[in-house]
Amino acid sequence: MPFDVIVIGGGPAGATAAMYLGKSGKRVLLVDKVAFPRDKTCGDAQGRKAAAIMKELGIYEEYTKLPGQEIYGITLSSPNGMQVELDVESRNNPAPGYVHKRMVFDNFLFQSAKKWAETRVFEVTDLVVEEGTVRGVVGVNENGETETIRAGLVLAADGALSIVARKFGFNKNPPEHFIAALRAYYKNVDGMTDRIEIHMIKSLIPGYFWVFPLPNREANVGLGMVINDMNKKKINLKEAMLAELKENPLFKERFKNARLDGEIRAWNLPLASYHRTCYGSGFLVLGDAASLIDPLSGEGVGTAMISGRVAALVTIEALQKNDFSERFLKKYDAMLWDVIGDEIRADYRLQRLGTMFPHLIDRVVEKALKDEGFRKKLESKLPYTGGRHDLGEHDFIFELDPSLDWKQVGLEA
Ligand SMILES: Cc1cc2nc3c(=O)[nH]c(=O)nc-3n(C[C@H](O)[C@H](O)[C@H](O)COP(=O)(O)OP(=O)(O)OC[C@H]3O[C@@H](n4cnc5c(N)ncnc54)[C@H](O)[C@@H]3O)c2cc1C
Repeated sequence: MPFDVIVIGGGPAGATAAMYLGKSGKRVLLVDKVAFPRDKTCGDAQGRKAAAIMKELGIYEEYTKLPGQEIYGITLSSPNGMQVELDVESRNNPAPGYVHKRMVFDNFLFQSAKKWAETRVFEVTDLVVEEGTVRGVVGVNENGETETIRAGLVLAADGALSIVARKFGFNKNPPEHFIAALRAYYKNVDGMTDRIEIHMIKSLIPGYFWVFPLPNREANVGLGMVINDMNKKKINLKEAMLAELKENPLFKERFKNARLDGEIRAWNLPLASYHRTCYGSGFLVLGDAASLIDPLSGEGVGTAMISGRVAALVTIEALQKNDFSERFLKKYDAMLWDVIGDEIRADYRLQRLGTMFPHLIDRVVEKALKDEGFRKKLESKLPYTGGRHDLGEHDFIFELDPSLDWKQVGLEA
């Protein structure tokens, strides 16, 4: 067998896994159905989780030099139209986050992976399954020919529409655990800073509207909403986004001379509030294919890269022990959720709270504007930062509204 491992999908999850495996001397084949650079519909923001992985892989310095925008904080607006500027880090320190277009960022990761892994343009159409164990992939190669490639283990990092997750029936998130979102690039936008902007707009709650700055007055603009809520409210995301840019006082002036660059594109976000099965005999599932997107912030790049790292560690051990059984690979699920579980659970609570009690978002912004101590506490817990496991806990929310019925929100003291 020429390869120890085949990784399907060269996005953040797959490229990360391939790098860790290749660096440890494993024979890795990383396949993607398209050639890089390729676009991926996304808000393009990367935070501390992604940075930590790139530092460990030794590619972080190079990453910070890619064309993109350094990010130091978040501008947050509430349903009643108030707005607060929150900083995560001092401007004297290195930026804790960046907005890099995925066309650039994913290509950087993919090209970095090439140093340690063999890569091919190859569209996987099926898996080789023998006696209930995955032993390789079947697909269409660059020349349009059908080919079978075998390996000890297959890592499926093939995104939100993963054919591997579908084949094993893992992809059945209920609609409350899926976000539908749009992304558009605008040029010539006024009033951008080195903060990403998250706007909780009254008519679109619990959806969230973002404006993420890029260099040269360009912005990544988007709107996302849990599919259940979108259907209930009968919202057409595209119409809603265009109407906000034209009419909302927060954007009207700033987008007056802005110009849409390219198409408005839509894509799905499978949320980690639904804990999918992510392993089986001879295979592991990573990133969006394993439904690992944060249900509050929509951040999926960081968790995808964490899953790539953990999958690589478990794969290395499986290869050493020559044990590709479902029983052994279950370890991946335990290790992965040990790392990401607390934050995902806290963020899911917050997402539900915001949906049930939008006035709490008004209170957060109002209190952060008035009370510096509270603002600092909030700043240390923002999306894309670390150490925020306790944000969804009782005490923090109690400060905002002591009269809430805690049983109803599932947050008993
Ligand atoms: C509108 C929107 C905004 C978002 N904003 C952010 C944000 O600002 N920050 C953030 O962190 N996250 C954001 N996310 C989430 C983020 O985009 C994903 O979580 C992330 O891309 C997951 O990485 P991945 O490697 O798992 O999958 P992907 O990046 O989707 O990569 C999957 C790869 O698999 C390949 N592939 C698919 N099928 C096959 C096949 N059959 N054979 C071979 N190759 C295949 C694809 O070509 C692709 O390259 C956003 C998502 C959306 C939709």
